[in-house]
Parts: sequence; structure tokens; C-alpha cells
Amino acid sequence: MSINIKGKIAIVTGASRGIGEGIAKVFSTEGATVICAARSTVDGDRVVKSINQNGGSAIFIQADIRLEADCKRLINTVVEKYGRLDIMCHNAGIYPDELMEDMSIETWDDTINTNLRSCFLLTKPCVKVMRAQKSGRILFTSSITGPNVAQARLAAYSSSKGGINAFIKAASLELAKDGITVNAVSPGNIVTESMMKLYGEDGAKEIAKIVPAGKLGDTADIGYAMVYLASDQAKFVTGQAIVVDGGQILPEDPDSFLRNE
Ligand code: NAP
Repeated sequence: MSINIKGKIAIVTGASRGIGEGIAKVFSTEGATVICAARSTVDGDRVVKSINQNGGSAIFIQADIRLEADCKRLINTVVEKYGRLDIMCHNAGIYPDELMEDMSIETWDDTINTNLRSCFLLTKPCVKVMRAQKSGRILFTSSITGPNVAQARLAAYSSSKGGINAFIKAASLELAKDGITVNAVSPGNIVTESMMKLYGEDGAKEIAKIVPAGKLGDTADIGYAMVYLASDQAKFVTGQAIVVDGGQILPEDPDSFLRNE
């Protein structure tokens, strides 16, 4: 039996560009109907158009995942339209790059609200629907930054992603009996426009040197890990964060993977 998500109804947040666009496209290739969510209608429509032109089935729903009303509306609209919700993949996130001493409380709160509080706001309306179905997949894009490694200038971001990894454990315990799993994928450095803006071409080349795979990841690398977690075959995997980072968090010292060369 091949691993796929044929016929599943899947929401992907932050699907207007970057990793979310990659996840939405891989979900479509693997047979799901995809509901793309983000704030930008222009970008969301572009992704949906591209999926539909390639033989997939996608719609865009505009939503700001910091707002409870938008999160409820997103989930309820999907259930009303399709009669079920199989996969809720919350990927949207921001990574403001600032020293703690310069960061405003507004930026801190916005990062926690966008990346972490939204996990609760989106999971809550899914629970009733998925419990009634006796099945469901709740997925998050976490990060190696925070849970596994640390970076200066990313305290708020790291805290939000550490929070996601704690949230999936508690949520998975509450939902396991009803066939609902809650998992995350923790990307290493993945090429997206926002990430390239943060590091620049030269910065990205420097980072590639500390990745044993010798390069940064692409958005489909995250998409395929999500497909596995979203599939029926992953029914016994819950409360886990799968690291997809080309080996970046493994080296004991900077030379440990260069000695082979
Ligand atoms: P990106 O290109 O900037 O994409 C972020 C997405 O989130 C966009 O679609 C954006 O759409 C959406 N978004 C942001 N705020 C939102 C809000 N309030 N409501 C709804 N949607 C919102 O970033 P990315 O690099 O693809 O990162 C995506 C996720 O992967 C994030 O959770 C990030 O932390 C995680 N991650 C990325 C990397 C990496 O190397 N790229 C590594 C580890 C983890 P709108 O602006 O249109 O709303």
C-alpha cells in the first residue's frame, strides 16, 4: 500500500507562499482537496490557481489566524462545504529578527499570537468535528529553532515554537482515544522568500556549510513529511515532532561531518 492522502479534505494555513505553498502543492499531488488559508487574497488565489491548473482541487479562504472569529469561520466553512475535515495543517508563522532588548512588547505578543496562540484557536473548533468522525490529523509547522537549537535575536520565535512542541503532547493525550493524532514537523533551514530576506544569498551559503546534507531544504521536503503524518498509515504516531533538517542538529562539533571529506 502506498502512502497517500487521496480524497482527504485538508486545510493548510500560511499557504499563500513559502513552506505552506509547498505543503499545499504536495498535499494536492498526493490526492487531497486543499483549502489554502492566509491573509493575502492575491497570493492565496495565485497558489490555488496553480494547483487547479495542474489538475488538483483547491480553494482559498482568507483568514487571520490571530483572530478567534477567523479561525472558527475557517474550520466551520470547510465543514459546511465538504461535510468533514480530515487534516488541519497549521503552518502560518512569522519570525521577527530582533535582540530581546530592542524588541517591543507588541512584537513579542504578535509572534506568540501568530505562531502559538493560533494553535489553540485552530485546534479547538476541529476537536468537535474530528471526535464525531472518530478520525483526524492535526499538524503544525514547528522549527528546530527553539525546541532543538538556539539563535540570538529569535527569543520570541524560539519560545513560540517550543510552545508548539509542548502543545502537541498535551493535545495528543486529550484526543488519542478518538483516532485523532497531533504532530509537528520541525524544519531546519528551508529556502523561502522570507527566509532568504532574513539571511541574504551569502548568509544562506554560510548556513549551508553547517548542514551535513550540504544545502538548505526545499518546501516539498516539509510537504512530504506532512503527508506521512497526515496519512492513514501514521495512525499510531502522535505527540511527535519530526525534524527535517538535512542533519543540521546532529553534529557534536563543527568538524564532525567534514572529516569524511
Ligand atoms: P513565509 O514565506 O513568510 O510564509 C508565511 C505564511 O504565513 C504566509 O503564507 C503568510 O501569509 C502566513 N501568515 C503570516 N501571518 C499570518 C496571519 N496572521 N494569519 C494568516 N496567515 C499568516 O514563511 P516560511 O519561511 O514559509 O515559514 C512558514 C512556517 O515555517 C512558519 O511557521 C515558520 O516558522 C516555519 N519555519 C520556516 C523555516 C524556514 O527555513 N523557512 C524554518 C523553520 C520553521 P499572509 O502574509 O498572506 O497572511
